[in-house]
Amino acid sequence: MIAMKGAEVSAKIKEEIDKKLEQLEGYIPVLAIVRVGENPDDISYEKGAVKRMEKLGMKTKVFAYPADISNQEFKSRFAEINQDAEVDGILLLRPLPKHICEKDIEKIISPDKDLDGISPENIAKVFAGDESGFAPCTAEAVIHVLKANHIDLTGKKMTIVGRSMVVGKPLAMLALKENATVTVCHTRTKDLKETCQKGDILVAAAGKAKMLDGSYVKQDGIVVDVGINVDEDGKLCGDVDFQSLEGIASMATPVPGGVGAVTTSVLAMHLAEAACRRH
Ligand code: NAP
Repeated sequence: MIAMKGAEVSAKIKEEIDKKLEQLEGYIPVLAIVRVGENPDDISYEKGAVKRMEKLGMKTKVFAYPADISNQEFKSRFAEINQDAEVDGILLLRPLPKHICEKDIEKIISPDKDLDGISPENIAKVFAGDESGFAPCTAEAVIHVLKANHIDLTGKKMTIVGRSMVVGKPLAMLALKENATVTVCHTRTKDLKETCQKGDILVAAAGKAKMLDGSYVKQDGIVVDVGINVDEDGKLCGDVDFQSLEGIASMATPVPGGVGAVTTSVLAMHLAEAACRRH
């Protein structure tokens, strides 16, 4: 079984980013990361994103607010960041605390600065197959992983476990655009194992530690594991038991070191693209 490593995919994306930065003739793109509260997962993602942008020669500004900031106050702060001429793109760390209306923020964010595809306009473009917007970074990262590993989606059956607006649904649309035949599973799917086994490509995005193993995978199938979970020993793991795929899957992404690493690269590419459009 071949491990599809995120670092190799990120190296290819870096070439595209460098070309965009060249076009900017010395202008340095600025990413605004917006966080509410001190969720360790958010802080860890934020640190990774800051480090990656710096390494690629781009800047980040972190806007962190207390978990008890009022809905009204957060909306007006967010609107200010959105209008800040120095900010080329925005990453909003989600989910937000329950008292803050995410739907309102999705409507406020400018589609041109919405690097993670949360605005209705960018989502509509993903569903319409229009590439002029920004798709959710993780969903797009899955496509990059497959393409970088020379996997042609045309005519392939792709089974996705998970139907969130962050991964499952937008990925289904991106894969359809690449001419895959897509099946999306969720908690009410009755014959999950059989449906997964039919996929030439199985994408796990359920957020359940090691819920899928080799028995869910077609012989010589391809597995992309989007899940980021912590196992009983406190170690990072995916939705798929990677070891159990040996002798069954032909290729699979590890966790850590798989899709997660590519997601921040896609974010960086979106930032460079947003800056190119503005300058
Ligand atoms: P989410 O919003 O919780 O959605 C999970 C989806 O999986 C839901 O559609 C749910 O079905 C489905 N699901 C859960 N348990 C299932 C089961 N036992 N059988 C079948 N379907 C099941 O999660 P998310 O935000 O999409 O994230 C999914 C995973 O990806 C998480 O582990 C997250 O940490 C990870 N993630 C990784 C990256 C990255 O950069 N690699 C980025 C974002 C997220 P229902 O709709 O029926 O509830």
